[in-house]
Amino acid sequence: VPSSLGGTFCYIEIAKKNKITDMKKYHDYQQKQNLLIPPRLDSLIDSNDLCRVVNRVIDELDPDTYESRFRGGGRPSYHPKMMLKILVYGYCMKIYSSRKIALALRRDIAFMWLSGRQNPEHNTINRFRGDYLKEALEQVFASVVQFLLNHGYIKSNDYFVDGTKFEADAGKYTHVWKKSAEKFSSKVKDRAKEIMEEADLINEQEDLEFSGKDLASTGSHSELTPEEMRAAATEISKQISDEMTGRQKQRKKTLSKKLEQEADKLQKYNEQLEICKERNSYSKTDHDATFMRMKNDEVRAGYNVQAGSQSQYITTFSVSQNSNDATAFKAHMQKRNELKLPPVDTITADSIYGTEDNYEFMESLDAQCYLKYPTFHRETHGKKPMFSLEDFEYDEVNDQYKCPGGRELLFFYETSKQKQGGNRWFYRVYGCETCEGCSLASQCKKTKRNKRLHVNHKLAKYRKDTKTRLLSDKGFELRRRRGFEIETPFADIKHNLGYRRIRLRGIKKATAELALVFIGYNLRKAAKATLKAG
Ligand code: SF4
Repeated sequence: VPSSLGGTFCYIEIAKKNKITDMKKYHDYQQKQNLLIPPRLDSLIDSNDLCRVVNRVIDELDPDTYESRFRGGGRPSYHPKMMLKILVYGYCMKIYSSRKIALALRRDIAFMWLSGRQNPEHNTINRFRGDYLKEALEQVFASVVQFLLNHGYIKSNDYFVDGTKFEADAGKYTHVWKKSAEKFSSKVKDRAKEIMEEADLINEQEDLEFSGKDLASTGSHSELTPEEMRAAATEISKQISDEMTGRQKQRKKTLSKKLEQEADKLQKYNEQLEICKERNSYSKTDHDATFMRMKNDEVRAGYNVQAGSQSQYITTFSVSQNSNDATAFKAHMQKRNELKLPPVDTITADSIYGTEDNYEFMESLDAQCYLKYPTFHRETHGKKPMFSLEDFEYDEVNDQYKCPGGRELLFFYETSKQKQGGNRWFYRVYGCETCEGCSLASQCKKTKRNKRLHVNHKLAKYRKDTKTRLLSDKGFELRRRRGFEIETPFADIKHNLGYRRIRLRGIKKATAELALVFIGYNLRKAAKATLKAG
């Protein structure tokens, strides 16, 4: 009876009818069966298994990239190559916890094979990841990318950049805001000044009372530091003498104590401002993490990660403490140079990257620039603004514009605007002497004032050139590909690999962990490509 028709059942029924009792209903189940020749772990692993890809790639890396930190001496360490293999394989298999990797080393055949049946403890794995390999992992990442390029996994020379935010290992309520620290610091200084002024006033009264014994002033009270405040507190304490009444002594003691307390507070706020530096906030748990708005609109401590992809493989990444993608672009591209990765032909990014600084920086690179700018989509798809700068004719000789209504807009003055990152944007302002009686006024301007144009000639030129490139066939193809070339890796890492939160604290350790994440992502993709190619 064919098995599709319930062959086993029929066979059992027939056997029952014919009173056959010694038939075999199940496979043999012998838990305690010994094997004459123990199997090799290697023979139990599929030839296309992911762990074999990890093994091969790490074996082919230059050992100097990860061994330079090991000086030797003392008890022999676990081999860095083995530790690197189990860490990378762990990140490929969505196992990010050192405890779970340690457990897998005792249970999982692939881990056992990679480690040669060695069982490092979880804190050894963690120390290795966070301390020994901290500096080396970025270089390991670059070597893996080079491997993928050399072996033809990465075919495209078009580079797509985007930013994504990862939560830091810090609580929601661990924030320190720079503005609060500045406000409280100034309030402390005001209170301290009041205390010191009161102390000086008491001194003046005492000078009159105990004439001939001038008491030292508490200081200039201008820009106070915690040290000055402590010195003033000590001075107030020293001024207590036996000639004073009990009330006077008590008052001086209170003032000195209050000043000491304010000095401690000021020191705390100064330390907070020192940690903040250029940032607006930081987390008390991870000082390098900045509070930023995440994809789900919540404000959490995190890092802004810039990543670039080629053929959907992540080929460069950089970690920024600033939530603005545009300001992190330059550092990201410089990181690519530091890692000595080969140059690319084109660089494509979304409209947030189209700033004057970034266009200027792109001129120093050999790659063609396809960075969109904020108004590109509106100019090409949406309802075009009735009168944009393009509709005003520029007269370079006289440095003036001619409007669609045929009137002249003369140069008035130059102005500038502070940008994120410290630089300034410079504008030339042109204005129409009178727009009175113009039939186009309602479409040309929103206010009653005469029309004014704020023009950054340099940026306008960059935008014009980039627009031509973006509207070309190549530009159209790159814009179409941008969505899936870089967004797909982010979605895969965050959704399929479930990696949304960095487990290590501090920007260096976070960078090291992200290197492992991106190596894991790239090798998973390479393993799939190998399997597909057969
Ligand atoms: S509103 Fe002024 S600037 Fe605009 S078209 Fe009329 S005259 Fe020219």
